[in-house]
Amino acid sequence: MTRLLLIGPPGAGKGTQAARLAEIYGIPAISTGDIFRSNVKNGTELGTKAKAFMDAGDNVPDSLTNALIRDRLEEDDAQDGFLLDGYPRTTDQVRELDSFLASHGAALDAVVELEADPEVVISRLRKRALEQGRSDDTEAVVRHRLEVYSEQTAPLINVYASRDVLVTIDALGEIDAVTARITEALVERGISSADVTSR
Ligand code: AMP
Repeated sequence: MTRLLLIGPPGAGKGTQAARLAEIYGIPAISTGDIFRSNVKNGTELGTKAKAFMDAGDNVPDSLTNALIRDRLEEDDAQDGFLLDGYPRTTDQVRELDSFLASHGAALDAVVELEADPEVVISRLRKRALEQGRSDDTEAVVRHRLEVYSEQTAPLINVYASRDVLVTIDALGEIDAVTARITEALVERGISSADVTSR
């Protein structure tokens, strides 16, 4: 049973690493950004409410996000652990997640911070904009998302550091190398992959 958070600025590679870590640890990767994007695509009420915030690079209001993640974490596949990517993003969301976990007698095993230089993430996102055409990857919106990250999300790093669950990883370099850095740092904290624990 492994419960992990992945935290870091847009463009640090959270989505890429989340998919790999989910496989390695045998847990679902839960990305609030992906859930919002699929709601926008399917034209749901939630998607309609979230779209303007997303396109502007602002956080979707906590009231919408907290309800969504509660429902997702109640699903069967999340009962034996999960990897959260892009949530929590605000101190209010931390409080919400804390109370959810406490009410289930659970706690986070580690919070993985992907650390990356802002100029590097801007150039990565420029590339992603060309490849994926995300409406929030334009230069101006990217810069705003980085500001939102510094103001609202970066303070969470100290919160988790003070709880002694923070693992900070250099997010630059080859994808495989970054994954290896994460898994090695987690082994040091006594967190092993699904394969190792089931043997
Ligand atoms: P991401 O895919 O994590 O970069 O998220 C894309 C966009 O979805 C963000 O810029 C926000 O508008 C919205 N979003 C994703 N996760 C959250 C969250 N935890 N709280 C508020 N807004 C979020």
